[in-house]
Amino acid sequence: MTPPGRAALPEAHGRPHTARGVREPVSGTKGHVSAARVRRVVSTRAGGRSTGDFTSFNLSSGVGDDRVAVASNRRRLSTELGVPVVFLDQVHGTRVAMVDVVPRSGEPDRPGTDAAVTALPGVGLAVLAADCVPVLLADPGAGVVGVAHAGRVGAAAGVLPATVAAMEALGARIGAVEVLLGPAVCGGCYEVPAAMRAQVDAVLPGSGVRTRRGTPGLDLRAGLHRQLTALGVARIGGDPRCTLEDRDLYSHRRDRRTGRLAGITWLDAG
Ligand SMILES: [Zn+2]
Repeated sequence: MTPPGRAALPEAHGRPHTARGVREPVSGTKGHVSAARVRRVVSTRAGGRSTGDFTSFNLSSGVGDDRVAVASNRRRLSTELGVPVVFLDQVHGTRVAMVDVVPRSGEPDRPGTDAAVTALPGVGLAVLAADCVPVLLADPGAGVVGVAHAGRVGAAAGVLPATVAAMEALGARIGAVEVLLGPAVCGGCYEVPAAMRAQVDAVLPGSGVRTRRGTPGLDLRAGLHRQLTALGVARIGGDPRCTLEDRDLYSHRRDRRTGRLAGITWLDAG
Protein backbone atom coordinates (compact mmCIF):
# COMPACT_ATOMS: atom_id res chain seq x y z
CA MET A 1 0.00 0.00 0.00
CA THR A 2 1.07 3.54 -0.66
CA PRO A 3 1.31 5.65 2.48
CA PRO A 4 -0.97 8.68 2.79
CA GLY A 5 0.51 11.85 1.32
CA ARG A 6 2.65 13.95 3.60
CA ALA A 7 2.60 17.67 4.18
CA ALA A 8 5.35 20.17 3.83
CA LEU A 9 6.13 22.18 6.93
CA PRO A 10 5.93 25.92 7.46
CA GLU A 11 9.67 26.34 7.37
CA ALA A 12 10.28 23.88 4.55
CA HIS A 13 8.18 24.50 1.46
CA GLY A 14 7.65 21.36 -0.52
CA ARG A 15 10.13 19.20 1.39
CA PRO A 16 8.56 15.82 1.98
CA HIS A 17 9.10 15.34 5.66
CA THR A 18 6.41 15.38 8.27
CA ALA A 19 7.73 16.50 11.59
CA ARG A 20 9.95 19.05 13.20
CA GLY A 21 11.68 18.07 16.40
CA VAL A 22 11.84 21.00 18.77
CA ARG A 23 14.09 20.64 21.76
CA GLU A 24 14.58 24.15 23.03
CA PRO A 25 14.58 25.41 26.60
CA VAL A 26 11.45 27.42 27.29
CA SER A 27 12.34 30.73 28.90
CA GLY A 28 10.73 31.52 32.23
CA THR A 29 10.54 27.92 33.30
CA LYS A 30 12.65 26.20 35.90
CA GLY A 31 15.38 24.17 34.25
CA HIS A 32 15.09 23.04 30.66
CA VAL A 33 11.71 22.01 29.36
CA SER A 34 11.42 20.24 26.05
CA ALA A 35 8.84 21.65 23.71
CA ALA A 36 6.32 19.22 22.28
CA ARG A 37 7.04 17.56 18.96
CA VAL A 38 4.34 18.62 16.54
CA ARG A 39 3.36 16.34 13.67
CA ARG A 40 1.54 17.39 10.52
CA VAL A 41 0.23 15.34 7.61
CA VAL A 42 -1.90 16.05 4.56
CA SER A 43 -3.44 13.03 2.81
CA THR A 44 -3.81 12.57 -0.95
CA ARG A 45 -6.12 10.41 -3.09
CA ALA A 46 -3.69 7.50 -2.90
CA GLY A 47 -3.79 4.42 -0.76
CA GLY A 48 -7.44 3.86 0.13
CA ARG A 49 -10.39 1.57 -0.61
CA SER A 50 -12.93 3.98 -2.09
CA THR A 51 -13.80 3.51 -5.75
CA GLY A 52 -15.37 5.47 -8.64
CA ASP A 53 -15.67 9.21 -8.06
CA PHE A 54 -14.17 8.78 -4.59
CA THR A 55 -11.01 6.86 -5.58
CA SER A 56 -9.37 6.07 -3.33
CA PHE A 57 -8.46 7.58 0.05
CA ASN A 58 -11.64 9.57 0.73
CA LEU A 59 -11.93 10.40 4.42
CA SER A 60 -15.36 12.09 4.43
CA SER A 61 -18.49 10.24 5.49
CA GLY A 62 -20.69 13.06 4.19
CA VAL A 63 -20.16 12.97 0.40
CA GLY A 64 -22.08 9.84 -0.63
CA ASP A 65 -19.19 7.38 -0.55
CA ASP A 66 -19.56 3.80 0.70
CA ARG A 67 -19.48 3.88 4.51
CA VAL A 68 -17.48 0.67 4.79
CA ALA A 69 -14.78 2.08 2.51
CA VAL A 70 -14.60 5.37 4.45
CA ALA A 71 -14.40 3.54 7.77
CA SER A 72 -11.61 1.39 6.37
CA ASN A 73 -9.75 4.47 5.09
CA ARG A 74 -10.07 6.16 8.47
CA ARG A 75 -8.84 3.08 10.32
CA ARG A 76 -5.87 2.92 7.98
CA LEU A 77 -5.09 6.59 8.58
CA SER A 78 -5.09 6.05 12.35
CA THR A 79 -2.93 2.95 12.03
CA GLU A 80 -0.41 4.70 9.75
CA LEU A 81 -0.18 7.73 12.02
CA GLY A 82 -0.27 5.74 15.25
CA VAL A 83 -2.89 7.97 16.89
CA PRO A 84 -6.69 8.08 17.15
CA VAL A 85 -8.11 10.86 14.95
CA VAL A 86 -11.00 13.25 15.69
CA PHE A 87 -13.14 14.18 12.66
CA LEU A 88 -15.53 17.11 12.37
CA ASP A 89 -18.95 17.33 10.72
CA GLN A 90 -18.12 20.63 9.01
CA VAL A 91 -20.72 23.28 8.19
CA HIS A 92 -18.61 26.28 7.05
CA GLY A 93 -19.03 27.87 10.49
CA THR A 94 -16.76 29.11 13.25
CA ARG A 95 -17.48 26.69 16.10
CA VAL A 96 -14.35 25.19 17.68
CA ALA A 97 -14.32 21.82 19.47
CA MET A 98 -12.16 21.55 22.60
CA VAL A 99 -10.86 17.98 22.57
CA ASP A 100 -10.00 16.91 26.11
CA VAL A 101 -10.61 13.17 26.01
CA VAL A 102 -9.05 10.53 23.77
CA PRO A 103 -11.58 9.67 21.04
CA ARG A 104 -12.97 6.16 20.68
CA SER A 105 -12.35 4.38 17.40
CA GLY A 106 -15.16 5.08 14.92
CA GLU A 107 -16.88 7.71 17.07
CA PRO A 108 -19.21 10.11 15.19
CA ASP A 109 -17.84 13.32 13.65
CA ARG A 110 -18.23 16.31 15.99
CA PRO A 111 -21.46 17.96 14.83
CA GLY A 112 -21.57 21.52 13.47
CA THR A 113 -17.88 22.12 14.01
CA ASP A 114 -15.21 23.50 11.66
CA ALA A 115 -12.23 23.65 13.98
CA ALA A 116 -10.72 21.79 16.91
CA VAL A 117 -7.98 22.36 19.47
CA THR A 118 -6.29 20.13 22.01
CA ALA A 119 -3.46 20.03 24.50
CA LEU A 120 -3.68 16.22 24.71
CA PRO A 121 -0.62 14.45 23.30
CA GLY A 122 -1.29 11.51 21.02
CA VAL A 123 -4.65 12.68 19.67
CA GLY A 124 -4.93 13.58 15.96
CA LEU A 125 -7.18 16.44 14.87
CA ALA A 126 -8.40 16.28 11.26
CA VAL A 127 -10.05 18.73 8.91
CA LEU A 128 -11.47 17.64 5.57
CA ALA A 129 -11.27 19.65 2.37
CA ALA A 130 -11.51 19.56 -1.42
CA ASP A 131 -10.52 23.15 -2.44
CA CYS A 132 -11.18 24.79 0.96
CA VAL A 133 -8.05 25.47 3.02
CA PRO A 134 -7.10 22.93 5.69
CA VAL A 135 -5.22 24.92 8.34
CA LEU A 136 -2.92 23.25 10.88
CA LEU A 137 -1.78 25.29 13.89
CA ALA A 138 0.55 24.67 16.83
CA ASP A 139 2.33 26.27 19.74
CA PRO A 140 5.01 23.62 20.33
CA GLY A 141 6.26 25.30 23.50
CA ALA A 142 2.84 25.35 25.13
CA GLY A 143 1.94 21.94 23.74
CA VAL A 144 -1.25 23.04 21.99
CA VAL A 145 -2.40 22.17 18.46
CA GLY A 146 -5.41 23.15 16.38
CA VAL A 147 -7.04 22.61 13.00
CA ALA A 148 -9.48 24.71 11.02
CA HIS A 149 -11.52 24.22 7.85
CA ALA A 150 -11.31 27.57 6.06
CA GLY A 151 -13.33 27.73 2.87
CA ARG A 152 -14.74 30.95 1.46
CA VAL A 153 -17.64 31.13 3.91
CA GLY A 154 -15.83 29.98 7.06
CA ALA A 155 -12.73 32.07 6.34
CA ALA A 156 -14.86 35.19 5.86
CA ALA A 157 -16.84 34.38 9.02
CA GLY A 158 -13.62 34.23 11.07
CA VAL A 159 -12.97 30.56 11.75
CA LEU A 160 -9.24 31.18 12.04
CA PRO A 161 -9.34 33.92 14.75
CA ALA A 162 -11.81 31.71 16.65
CA THR A 163 -9.38 28.79 16.48
CA VAL A 164 -6.43 30.91 17.62
CA ALA A 165 -8.51 32.23 20.54
CA ALA A 166 -9.39 28.68 21.58
CA MET A 167 -5.70 27.75 21.48
CA GLU A 168 -4.87 30.77 23.65
CA ALA A 169 -7.48 29.57 26.16
CA LEU A 170 -5.43 26.36 26.41
CA GLY A 171 -2.23 28.30 27.06
CA ALA A 172 -0.87 28.99 23.57
CA ARG A 173 0.93 32.30 23.00
CA ILE A 174 0.11 34.05 19.75
CA GLY A 175 3.75 34.94 19.06
CA ALA A 176 4.75 31.28 19.32
CA VAL A 177 2.01 29.89 17.09
CA GLU A 178 3.09 28.36 13.79
CA VAL A 179 0.66 27.68 10.97
CA LEU A 180 0.56 25.49 7.89
CA LEU A 181 -1.91 26.50 5.18
CA GLY A 182 -2.62 23.26 3.31
CA PRO A 183 -3.43 22.48 -0.33
CA ALA A 184 -6.40 24.44 -1.71
CA VAL A 185 -7.72 25.90 -4.95
CA CYS A 186 -5.27 28.65 -5.93
CA GLY A 187 -5.99 32.26 -6.84
CA GLY A 188 -5.14 31.58 -10.47
CA CYS A 189 -7.98 29.05 -10.69
CA TYR A 190 -10.66 30.20 -8.24
CA GLU A 191 -13.13 32.26 -10.30
CA VAL A 192 -16.00 34.03 -8.53
CA PRO A 193 -18.43 36.82 -9.48
CA ALA A 194 -17.00 40.33 -8.99
CA ALA A 195 -19.51 41.11 -6.23
CA MET A 196 -18.50 38.01 -4.29
CA ARG A 197 -14.83 38.88 -4.63
CA ALA A 198 -15.55 42.36 -3.22
CA GLN A 199 -17.64 40.93 -0.38
CA VAL A 200 -14.98 38.43 0.72
CA ASP A 201 -12.07 40.84 0.27
CA ALA A 202 -13.86 43.37 2.50
CA VAL A 203 -13.73 40.94 5.47
CA LEU A 204 -10.61 39.01 4.44
CA PRO A 205 -8.34 41.67 2.89
CA GLY A 206 -5.84 40.35 0.39
CA SER A 207 -8.04 37.48 -0.78
CA GLY A 208 -9.40 39.31 -3.84
CA VAL A 209 -7.30 38.59 -6.95
CA ARG A 210 -7.49 38.16 -10.70
CA THR A 211 -7.42 34.61 -12.00
CA ARG A 212 -5.08 33.40 -14.72
CA ARG A 213 -7.89 34.11 -17.21
CA GLY A 214 -8.10 37.70 -16.00
CA THR A 215 -11.46 37.19 -14.29
CA PRO A 216 -12.35 38.08 -10.66
CA GLY A 217 -10.96 35.50 -8.28
CA LEU A 218 -10.17 34.61 -4.69
CA ASP A 219 -6.91 33.51 -3.13
CA LEU A 220 -8.08 32.42 0.31
CA ARG A 221 -4.61 31.46 1.45
CA ALA A 222 -3.33 34.96 0.71
CA GLY A 223 -6.19 36.45 2.74
CA LEU A 224 -5.68 34.00 5.61
CA HIS A 225 -1.94 34.72 5.61
CA ARG A 226 -2.63 38.43 6.01
CA GLN A 227 -5.26 37.79 8.71
CA LEU A 228 -2.84 35.62 10.70
CA THR A 229 -0.08 38.23 10.39
CA ALA A 230 -2.47 40.87 11.72
CA LEU A 231 -3.27 38.60 14.67
CA GLY A 232 0.44 38.41 15.51
CA VAL A 233 1.31 35.02 14.05
CA ALA A 234 4.84 35.20 12.69
CA ARG A 235 5.52 31.71 11.41
CA ILE A 236 3.22 30.91 8.51
CA GLY A 237 4.04 28.34 5.87
CA GLY A 238 2.21 26.63 3.12
CA ASP A 239 1.80 23.51 1.10
CA PRO A 240 1.51 25.36 -2.21
CA ARG A 241 -0.30 22.66 -4.18
CA CYS A 242 -3.49 23.68 -6.00
CA THR A 243 -6.22 21.07 -5.51
CA LEU A 244 -7.86 21.94 -8.84
CA GLU A 245 -4.63 21.51 -10.82
CA ASP A 246 -3.18 18.52 -8.97
CA ARG A 247 -5.03 15.31 -9.78
CA ASP A 248 -3.47 13.55 -6.78
CA LEU A 249 -5.80 15.71 -4.66
CA TYR A 250 -9.58 15.99 -4.39
CA SER A 251 -11.17 19.10 -5.96
CA HIS A 252 -14.86 19.87 -5.71
CA ARG A 253 -14.55 22.61 -8.33
CA ARG A 254 -12.97 20.23 -10.83
CA ASP A 255 -15.00 17.07 -10.19
CA ARG A 256 -18.14 18.11 -8.21
CA ARG A 257 -18.90 14.60 -6.91
CA THR A 258 -15.66 13.64 -5.17
CA GLY A 259 -13.95 12.78 -1.88
CA ARG A 260 -12.14 14.83 0.71
CA LEU A 261 -8.50 14.92 1.76
CA ALA A 262 -7.53 15.51 5.36
CA GLY A 263 -5.05 17.75 7.12
CA ILE A 264 -4.09 16.19 10.43
CA THR A 265 -1.94 17.44 13.29
CA TRP A 266 -1.03 16.06 16.70
CA LEU A 267 1.43 16.26 19.54
CA ASP A 268 3.73 13.29 19.85
CA ALA A 269 2.91 11.37 23.00
CA GLY A 270 6.56 10.38 23.51
ZN1 LIG B 1 -4.81 26.50 -9.36
